[in-house]
Amino acid sequence: VSADEESGADKIRVVVRVRPLSQAEQQADASALCLKRLSPQSLKYGTDEENADSGMTFTFDQVFWSESQQQVCDKVGVSVVRNAWKGLNSSVFAYGQTGSGKTHTMTGQLDDLQGEGLIPRISRSLFSTDAAADEAITSFKVVATYYEIYNERVIDLLGETDAASPRAALRVREHPTRGPFVEGAVMREVGGWADLAQLLRRGNRARTVASTKMNAASSRSHAILQLSFVQTRIYGADDGGGEFGGGMRAVDRESKITLVDLAGSERADKTGVTGDRLVESGNINKSLLALGSVINALAESVTSTSTSSVFVPYRNSALTWLLRESLGGNARSVMVATLSPSALQREETGSTLRYAERAKRI
Ligand code: ADP
Ligand code: MG
Repeated sequence: VSADEESGADKIRVVVRVRPLSQAEQQADASALCLKRLSPQSLKYGTDEENADSGMTFTFDQVFWSESQQQVCDKVGVSVVRNAWKGLNSSVFAYGQTGSGKTHTMTGQLDDLQGEGLIPRISRSLFSTDAAADEAITSFKVVATYYEIYNERVIDLLGETDAASPRAALRVREHPTRGPFVEGAVMREVGGWADLAQLLRRGNRARTVASTKMNAASSRSHAILQLSFVQTRIYGADDGGGEFGGGMRAVDRESKITLVDLAGSERADKTGVTGDRLVESGNINKSLLALGSVINALAESVTSTSTSSVFVPYRNSALTWLLRESLGGNARSVMVATLSPSALQREETGSTLRYAERAKRI
């Protein structure tokens, strides 16, 4: 364990990904951007073409512009796999307004190698790691759960359904040693990426999707894929005393990989939703607000000089409660804040940058 890990530095790495202008944004006004590249780690927000000194500078661990899915995975996904082998929990969550590139970043195209996002790349890499290279490891297995949080309700995306009845909401419970979990959620052991891809496709079809003015295909829910990675290690000298005989011990080590495609961060009034849809948005904001509060509290506990520990309000939403083990404690997280560079999205882009900036202090 390095000094960095001991001191808790870099518990949350924050990277930003700016997508290209969409066709609609290009047609509106190709030159109207609200973001400008400064360096691989920094950008300028709210720039005014006429005045080069205008705008605010934001600095993150990395700012991606035209980087490929592979390049993003090299910076973000590789450490997730490495942590899993080390027995550490890690998570990646994509935050940003609808249409900014969260799903592109997390999932991307499942039927095109180049277009694959972090979930396929992390999974492939996890399964292809050469366990035999480490002689202590004899085997590993991966168990997947996939659920969404919609209106503060946790819905299993892998559960069996019948079309007549809506999916039942599941309860979040607290396991004395393993932390929060979704009671009754289907847990599937997957033998490789092909298995997992099949589960994801099925789960994605089950996702609650409601169209909004901003992105017809956007989901109003948080999608959470959790991979439990269990390594079995054999310790002790082989004294010829049989499989686990003599001084040999078999020890399981579990680490969790949590991959989250958050609901759109935009305010409800921006998307022109009404009635039921507005209620949904209200709850989505509740979860994201709770996530913001948790991030704030964690940031405060890192910078605080007081000896009393800072209260971290994990229990304020289903999202933060379930993500507790992936946000605090011994976990390593990466937040990918996704942005449109268009001046048309200036306001939402600004609020995403501020949200990401707070997370960076953890
Ligand atoms: P979100 O999930 O945040 O609502 P999407 O991931 O669906 O947004 O992205 C919206 C559109 O923009 C999609 O057509 C997607 O393919 C495209 N897109 C997003 N990010 C990028 C990127 N980095 N490069 C190219 N296209 C992108
Ligand atoms: Mg999406």
